Amino acid sequence: MSETNQGFNTRAVHAGQEFEPRTGAVVPPLHFSSTYAQEGIGGLRSGYEYGRGGNPTRDALQEQLAALEGGKHAFSFGSGLAAEDGLIRALCTPGDRIVLGNDAYGGTYRLISRVLGGWGIRNQPVDMAALDDVRDAVAAGGSAARLVWVETPSNPLMKVTDISALASIAHDAGALLVVDNTFASPYLQNPLALGADIVVHSTTKYIGGHSDVVGGAVVVNDDELAGKIGFVQFAVGAVSGPMDAFLTTRGLKTLGVRMERHSDNAQKIAEWLVGRPGIEKVLYPGLPEHPGHELAARQMRRFGGMISVQFSGGEAAARKVAESTRLFTLAESLGGIESLMNYPSEMTHASVKGTELAVPENLIRLSVGIEDAEDLIGDLDSAMSHL
Ligand SMILES: *Cc1c(COP(=O)(O)O)cnc(C)c1O
Repeated sequence: MSETNQGFNTRAVHAGQEFEPRTGAVVPPLHFSSTYAQEGIGGLRSGYEYGRGGNPTRDALQEQLAALEGGKHAFSFGSGLAAEDGLIRALCTPGDRIVLGNDAYGGTYRLISRVLGGWGIRNQPVDMAALDDVRDAVAAGGSAARLVWVETPSNPLMKVTDISALASIAHDAGALLVVDNTFASPYLQNPLALGADIVVHSTTKYIGGHSDVVGGAVVVNDDELAGKIGFVQFAVGAVSGPMDAFLTTRGLKTLGVRMERHSDNAQKIAEWLVGRPGIEKVLYPGLPEHPGHELAARQMRRFGGMISVQFSGGEAAARKVAESTRLFTLAESLGGIESLMNYPSEMTHASVKGTELAVPENLIRLSVGIEDAEDLIGDLDSAMSHL
């Protein structure tokens, strides 16, 4: 059922989701068993032996993820950061260098600098939208970088990077390109088709889509990379549990319809925000004045549900708005059906405060949900009435 010529929504509903042959159950059962009865020593009935190595519910999710990213292999992990850790351990050795965006997700930078740094991994933040700087950074440092790591659109500055151009820069230097596709989701953007080697997701966000499960995934085409990542997933064991895999699969089936609605609502809200009093900048790739607009229109299907806003009244204005909404809930995370408001400088990106990755203090980030746009605009209107 993983025919690549099928449309996205058909693959979302069907890939890895064959009915259960014994009962005909249309929704594949959730398998909790940690171990599998053998027919004689080493005689596996259907390939399954032990839950860390393989689980049918996790496999169903992995097949669905691979089909939606247009990759051959997907690996599901217990969180986005576990997925990142798994792929870095699988592909890097001590001394290797990772060139990453200077507005990378705070947790990614913390993992690479403070956990893997102690293990000998070096890192070099750079503005990924400035491709000449990236080329220099990849070649600098004695030896070429092993990984080039980009988020596009980036979190929370919404910078858009040319994935194909970045893939050429990485490949010319013998490095691999990793794209954190969490913000776009596989419905809006497929980095492997644009030349990336590895896609990583926090499935906690749009893929799960309902703010009720934490998870992560890595997707690749190359069999050799897949062998290495699969080995670390099994040997380290940061796998997603069956219930988490089930919830993620259920969410992923409706990704296409949700992303359409997230994109519709965010476009309306971004246009409403532009030019309002007290607003310095609206960062949304769907606005024609956004510096990455043309590029986003080329490499993304639509512009997504994330908007960042900067206030001319500085930190105080941003904090006041963040604490004044009723429908937008002040909370970390993003990508769920409900609208969330985040003050990155103190919340999601507190771990990079004071570093060159620090986020402006006059910025709030909106994760626009699938509620009625008029109600969301009304909520923002009253929260911003004092500006
Ligand atoms: C949330 C997030 C992560 C980390 O994922 P977890 O599931 O929280 O571990 C990585 N990258 C981006 C862009 C994120 O938003």
